[in-house]
Amino acid sequence: MEEERENGTELTEETASGSVEDTEKKDPDEYEKVCFMCRRPESKAGKMIELPGNIHICTDCMQKSFDTMQNSNINYNDLIKNMPPNISMIDLSSLNHQVPPRQQLKKRKEEKKAPKKEFTMKDVPPPHRIKEQLDEYVIGQEQAKKIMAVAVYNHYKRILSPAVEGIEIEKSNMLMIGPTGSGKTYMVQTLAKLLNVPLAITDATSLTEAGYIGDDIESVVSKLLAAADNDVERAEHGIIFIDEIDKIAKKKNTNQRDVSGEAVQQGMLKLLEGSEIEVPVGANSKNAMVPLTTVNTKNILFICGGAFPELPDIIKERLNKTSSIGFQADLKDKYDQDRDILMKATVDDLRNFGMIPEFLGRLPIIFSLESLTEDMLVQILREPKNAILKQYKRLLELDEVKLTFEDDALRAIARKALEKDTGARALRAIIEEFMLDIMYEIPKDDSIGEVVITREYIEHTGGPRILMRGQEIPMLETQA
Ligand code: ADP
Repeated sequence: MEEERENGTELTEETASGSVEDTEKKDPDEYEKVCFMCRRPESKAGKMIELPGNIHICTDCMQKSFDTMQNSNINYNDLIKNMPPNISMIDLSSLNHQVPPRQQLKKRKEEKKAPKKEFTMKDVPPPHRIKEQLDEYVIGQEQAKKIMAVAVYNHYKRILSPAVEGIEIEKSNMLMIGPTGSGKTYMVQTLAKLLNVPLAITDATSLTEAGYIGDDIESVVSKLLAAADNDVERAEHGIIFIDEIDKIAKKKNTNQRDVSGEAVQQGMLKLLEGSEIEVPVGANSKNAMVPLTTVNTKNILFICGGAFPELPDIIKERLNKTSSIGFQADLKDKYDQDRDILMKATVDDLRNFGMIPEFLGRLPIIFSLESLTEDMLVQILREPKNAILKQYKRLLELDEVKLTFEDDALRAIARKALEKDTGARALRAIIEEFMLDIMYEIPKDDSIGEVVITREYIEHTGGPRILMRGQEIPMLETQA
């Protein structure tokens, strides 16, 4: 016992003295600052404000203190004046607050970032190369990919080449019209990745005119700044994608003030055209503690996208009107079966839909995406560089099991997806549903060498074909 206790004491002394020595050698920059009030480290609480006496306070606590002082009706000047002589306010500098060495948290090692390099025209491939690279990921949408490639190329030519007096190249902001799940967001994401520019994606439904509940319009720029690691220069040649733009159409026949429709369109005009916007750094809203910076949106490429659900009716009505006159008179339901009626949209149709002319004027490139067919859905499953099937095949490959899909099975999946009417979005959900059992059952048995997904399995009338290593054993009644 005696010995044990002695050893114990020795140990603690050693550790204690060890840590004292460590602190002497410690580089203070390697350790995190901790908030004096809420005790959270810098990595959690954000930047700290330094006060005398080694005291650090996080911006949240500082803001809370200010708010409390403001909201309580205490007159601090009177309070200090009327204080009894033996009581004084705390002098923070008299406290020397040092977090004990044992409680210090070491900072995470930051990943080495590649040195910043200037973005030049050399970083922007010519249109045919942009399209080729899009082709690797996006199936179909040939016209849309071509229009986008040219527009993006021209946009960067405009901002990166020296200006010629008298010739101002117009901004290539775009408006994409296309059914849900046809690849609008995906195309923009792929484009930003291949150009290596920051991208911010926002939903128009969350935007409101400044001062109302919701994000104000300028918050899209702070999102982009965050995507650019707070590098203003990088953000200024980035891309902002505003989805569901059809949801901010002007409301018809309403007497109420339209804060989320027409007003938002109005509010977006100066952003689309280019103006200096003051944005909070590292936060979504401006408040007293957040530093502000200025971002110029002149060179930011804006892409708006939407499904415009009632637009086909507007287009049909226009087409029927023109074609029902004179010799061109056509059958009234000629366009009812036209799946790609959206491709025939004009600016006037969009205006009738409720987009204001000034807004449309700032999106000079308007194009539509086709709705996906069964064939395209099958291709989406199989062909893109990171196709869903490739991902699942790779997962099973890690268990040394081969995964194959029969052509009929892929068609069955595509047909199921078409029924859901959410484009390619439905594919993943359908596949996940039946792959769950496979992913669960297969690792149980080491002798399984190959799994073949059959049409019967997808249609719940049978099971997948399981092939053992070296032999084939059909298994029909399974977990499906
Ligand atoms: P939306 O048009 O509604 O913005 P998304 O771009 O978000 O649709 O598409 C959803 C998903 O479907 C994407 O993440 C992508 O994987 C897939 N997808 C959609 N369209 C295509 C396409 N044309 N080619 C390849 N994949 C696609």
